[in-house]
Amino acid sequence: YQVPNWSGGWFRVSDKGTLEVTPSPGLHAPLRAIVDEIVDRGESLPVILRFPQVLAGRVKHLNEAFQSAIAEYGYTGHYQGVFPIKVNQRRVVVESIAAAGYDYAHGLEAGSKAELALCLAQKMHPDALLCCNGFKDDGFIKLALWGRSLGKNVVITIEKYSELERILKQAKALGVKPAIGVRFKLHARGSGQWEESGGDQAKFGLNAYELLRVVERLKEENMLDSLVMLHTHIGSQITDIRRVKVAVREATQTYAGLIAAGAELKYLNVGGGLGVDYDGSKTTFYASMNYTVKEYAADVVYTVQEVCKARGVPEPIIVSESGRALTAHHAVLILPVVDVTGPTRDIEELVAPAEDSHQLIHDMHEILENISMRNYREMYNDAVGDKGTLHNLFDLGYVSLEDRARGEALFNAILRKIAKLIQNEKYVPDELEDLQKVLADKYICNFSLFQSLPDNWAIQALFPIVPLDRLNEKPTRQATLVDITCDSDGKIEKFIDLRDVKATLPLHEPGKEPYYLGVFLMGAYQDVLGSAHNLFGKVSEAHVTVRPGGKFNIDLFVRGQKARRMIESMGYEEPMLRDSIEDQADAAIKVGTLTDEQEHELLEDYGEELLGYTYLEYEN
Ligand code: PLP
Repeated sequence: YQVPNWSGGWFRVSDKGTLEVTPSPGLHAPLRAIVDEIVDRGESLPVILRFPQVLAGRVKHLNEAFQSAIAEYGYTGHYQGVFPIKVNQRRVVVESIAAAGYDYAHGLEAGSKAELALCLAQKMHPDALLCCNGFKDDGFIKLALWGRSLGKNVVITIEKYSELERILKQAKALGVKPAIGVRFKLHARGSGQWEESGGDQAKFGLNAYELLRVVERLKEENMLDSLVMLHTHIGSQITDIRRVKVAVREATQTYAGLIAAGAELKYLNVGGGLGVDYDGSKTTFYASMNYTVKEYAADVVYTVQEVCKARGVPEPIIVSESGRALTAHHAVLILPVVDVTGPTRDIEELVAPAEDSHQLIHDMHEILENISMRNYREMYNDAVGDKGTLHNLFDLGYVSLEDRARGEALFNAILRKIAKLIQNEKYVPDELEDLQKVLADKYICNFSLFQSLPDNWAIQALFPIVPLDRLNEKPTRQATLVDITCDSDGKIEKFIDLRDVKATLPLHEPGKEPYYLGVFLMGAYQDVLGSAHNLFGKVSEAHVTVRPGGKFNIDLFVRGQKARRMIESMGYEEPMLRDSIEDQADAAIKVGTLTDEQEHELLEDYGEELLGYTYLEYEN
């Protein structure tokens, strides 16, 4: 499962073969024990475990990385991060980051009016930045300006030229001096899945001509000192550190150009993009990154300094808007495996043909008996042909349901035999490449992919998935995961691998004890982007603090959304639902399909489900 490669030290496998969270040296707690306590309290799964200590640790790690680079290079400015709350607006996330970041003057970034309203209410260090990105109307701008009156270091980023006039107008009307940032469209691009966020065709930002027009316009207004920040962003999850360096160089040259044009910029904002190594491969693969947080900080500081020295301009305060890198590690989604299905779980006795079986069944049995290294390809093709004929003959009524069952079981047995034969072969014929996936078990997990891991569905994002225990026991099954939505897309068939992406995940045969999988590094974007497919709602969550001695506290348990809430979000109202059921029950009593006592019970059950969790709740 590559735990040491992707965990960044925040998780580890104990000697006992269980996964532990390790928020700081000396502190560790087994995830299984936390889940067991939640279940013992009578709460239902799935659940997200959140570790505020991990969030605090990530804030410290990022700030210290910049501080040590700044000290090492003798950089004369300093670093001030901002957390873009769109990555995860959950209260525990924002408050944990704000608290851990206070002493570093780590600020926040808002991309909409609602996000700004949330950020303005947070306790922040007086120097901490509150960056306002995204397209803005007058209301957004006014709110940002009021933020300055409240003593907050609010910077309004111009994303398109026309926003400048709006800002000037509102600032005059309120009598508040604005602090303005300007987002520049770098021609440098990121790497990986968000490459399109940068470059000339980027959605946000001004080109060089518009940038100079902003300077001229502010000069006209005698307000050039309001322009305090140059902002850039080349996309999230930058996999290749070289792209960071190229972008930061271009950004710093632009900064120097603006200084030369008379601007007095204080901040150079290099945006987000600091990656997360989801697969632990340390490569430029889209789910990885070929650098560390420390190397990122060092390269940003070094590059900014190098250009500033060459251009003879002051070294600015460096700002980064790292979101993914701060939040991904803090959350673990716990998936209970509720059932297992799959083609290798056929009833074995079906594999031996009965005397009176159809000739095709005898043929397929012969194939099974005679497969060898020399002929497996030919045998495979014959078996595929026989299976096709079997289905055609079944449709025409010439093959019985019993023979169809035998034929399918035999076909699966043939595939299993071939898979075993070629498991160590370097060369596998094209038609057999998917064999492992075809033969894999389907572990049915109690969750909705669309609610909890939307990026896996939408953009094939990879997340490490690991059983919470039995890690000192060799897994014997190969599996894909399916969720409980009625959507065939609700499945996970891509898993992390150091060299490639794996089609199956090795897992243990679930026994009598519940078998839980943890989905890791899912704390960035997933909570926010999730959707209510099939009315599966937000998952319950536990906020957990780890204490010395392997102990932990569940500080807060927030129950997931109830069915009623999901139904009401679609425009229905609870009394309307209950009235309808009552009317139907009364009518049923009249025609005799329901008794008075049963009506009472039915209404009670209905009400209980309305107030219940939307996920499966098995008693045992
Ligand atoms: N800043 C801006 C302007 C963004 O658009 C984004 C997200 O793409 C971020 C910051 C956060 O990026 P990341 O989560 O990669 O740090």
